[in-house]
Amino acid sequence: MIETALSRRTVLAGAAIAGMALPAHRALGAPEYAGPATDGSADVIVIGAGLAGLSAARHLQAQGSSVIVLEARGRAGGRVHSQRLDGGQMIDLGAQFIGDAHTHVAALAAEAGLRRISAAVPGDLLHMSSEDAAPLRGSPEALPLPMIDRLDALQALWRIERSVASFSGEDLARLDRIDAATFLRDKTFLDPAYRAIGGYVEGEMCTALADVSAYEALEQGASIGGFSGEGSSIQWFLADGAEGMTRYLADAVGGSLILNAPVSRVAQEAGAVTVTAATGTYRADRAIVAVPPQFYGTIGVLQELPPSWQAALGGWRLGSVVKTILVFKEPWWRRAGLSGMIVNPGGVFGAALDASPEDGRGILIVFSTAQGAQALSRLPDEKARVAAAMRWLRHAHGTGIPEPIEARSIDWSADPFSLGGYASRRGIGGWAAAPDLFAPHGQLHFAGTETANRWRSFMDGAVQSGLRAAGEILGAGTLPSVQGAD
Ligand SMILES: Cc1cc2nc3c(=O)[nH]c(=O)nc-3n(C[C@H](O)[C@H](O)[C@H](O)COP(=O)(O)OP(=O)(O)OC[C@H]3O[C@@H](n4cnc5c(N)ncnc54)[C@H](O)[C@@H]3O)c2cc1C
Repeated sequence: MIETALSRRTVLAGAAIAGMALPAHRALGAPEYAGPATDGSADVIVIGAGLAGLSAARHLQAQGSSVIVLEARGRAGGRVHSQRLDGGQMIDLGAQFIGDAHTHVAALAAEAGLRRISAAVPGDLLHMSSEDAAPLRGSPEALPLPMIDRLDALQALWRIERSVASFSGEDLARLDRIDAATFLRDKTFLDPAYRAIGGYVEGEMCTALADVSAYEALEQGASIGGFSGEGSSIQWFLADGAEGMTRYLADAVGGSLILNAPVSRVAQEAGAVTVTAATGTYRADRAIVAVPPQFYGTIGVLQELPPSWQAALGGWRLGSVVKTILVFKEPWWRRAGLSGMIVNPGGVFGAALDASPEDGRGILIVFSTAQGAQALSRLPDEKARVAAAMRWLRHAHGTGIPEPIEARSIDWSADPFSLGGYASRRGIGGWAAAPDLFAPHGQLHFAGTETANRWRSFMDGAVQSGLRAAGEILGAGTLPSVQGAD
C-alpha cells in the first residue's frame, strides 16, 4: 500500500510557485520550474486541473481518498478562463454557454452560487451564405435560404436527425471509413444546403468534415441529442464568468492542487504509478489522465497504451477555434430588432452571438472554427484578428456600426496547454481501431471532455468524465481509504 497524503513540504512548495507564470510558448518537454524538487504520494494523482480533473479530484477527496493534482499552467480551469477587462466587464475567453440539459454543470453552478444571465435575445438573425454574399435577414426558426435550398436543407436535416436518433454504433466498420463530408454530400442535393449544414456541423465539431468520419460526427450528434440538443446548449451564461466554477472546485481541492507543474513522464510499475512533473516526482496507486489526448505523447502516457489505442491516437485531429469578444457601449443591434446572431456557415467567421451583460453594455461573441480558425491563426496578432472580425461585422450590419470599446480574440490552437478547440477528435478509422479507447488501463484512468460519452466537447462532458473516472477508481475498491484500511 502506498503511503497516503501529500507531504506538507509538497503543499508549501506548490503554494510558493502558484503565482509563477510560465512563458507562453515554452516547450512542454523542457520544464522550466526553478524551485526545489519535491516528492509526494497520495492514493490518486490527477494530471490536469481543468473541469474534468478538478471534478474527479473533488469527488475522490470527498470520498476519503488522498489526491495530488498536477497542473501545467499557473492557474486552474484549462479551457475555462474568464477575465475582467479594464472597463470592469467580465468576459469568458473560453467556455461560456450552458443549457439546462447540461445537468452536471448546471448543478455545479448552482452549488457555487453563481448567477445566470439568459442568452435568449429576441429578434431576427442575419444569414450569410458566403463571406462576400449580402446578408439575408430572417427569423431564427427558419434559415433565410431561397425556398428550394431550404427544402433541400430540411430534408437533409430530417434524414441526418433520423440517423442520429437510431444511432447504435452497429455500423461502425462502414461509417468509420467514410468521411463526414462525403456522408453529408450524400444527404444533400444542392450546394447551399450542403454548405449551410456542413458549416454548422464544422462549427460544432471544431474540425473540417473531411478530417473526421461519418461515425465520429453521428456519435457526437448522438452524444448531445442531435441538432435540437445542440440548439438547446446555449440558454444561459454566468454573470461573473464560467471560471467561477473552476475556482470553486479548486478551492475545494485546496492544497492538493499544484500549479506550474507540467507533467513530462508517467510510469506504471508494480501496481503503482510514478509521475514526474516540473515540481517533483509523485507516486500513487492510480492516476487520472485529465489532459486532452493530444498531450498523451508529451506526458509519456502514449507508450504505456496498447497498439490499437496508439493507432487511434496517431490519427488524432486537433480542433481549431478562435473566439473574438467585442464589447460595445450598448447592444446597438437590438434597436434594429436584431438578436445579434449572425450565421455564416463555412466562413472565416462562422457565427456571432449576443452575450451582453446586464449593465447596459453590448457584447458580441464571434466564433471561428476549423479552416476559418486556421486562417485567422495566420494573421500576425490579436489586433489583426479583431480588425478582421470588425470588417466582417461591418459587411453584415453596414459601415455605420460603432467601434468596440474593448476587444479580445483568443486563438486556442496557439495555447501550448490546449493546442486546440472545444475538443479534438478521432480521425477517420479512429473508432474502428480502438472502440474501447479511454477505458481504464492498468493503473491509469482517463478523463477530459474528449473521453465523455455525453456532451463531448462541452463543459458538461468534462465534469461527467471526471466523475466517471473517479467512480471507476472508487468502484474498483482497491484504494486504502476505500477499503477503510487507513
Ligand atoms: C473558445 C472555446 C469556447 C468554448 N465554449 C464552450 C461553451 O460555450 N460551452 C461549453 O459547454 N463548452 C465550451 N467549450 C468547451 C469547454 O471549454 C471544454 O469542454 C472543457 O472546459 C474541457 O475541460 P477538460 O477538463 O476536459 O480540459 P481542459 O480544460 O483542457 O483541462 C486540461 C488541463 O490539463 C492541463 N495540462 C495540459 N498539459 C499538461 C501537462 N503536461 N501537465 C499537467 N497539466 C497539463 C491544461 O493546462 C488544462 O488545465 C469551449 C472551449 C473553447 C476553447
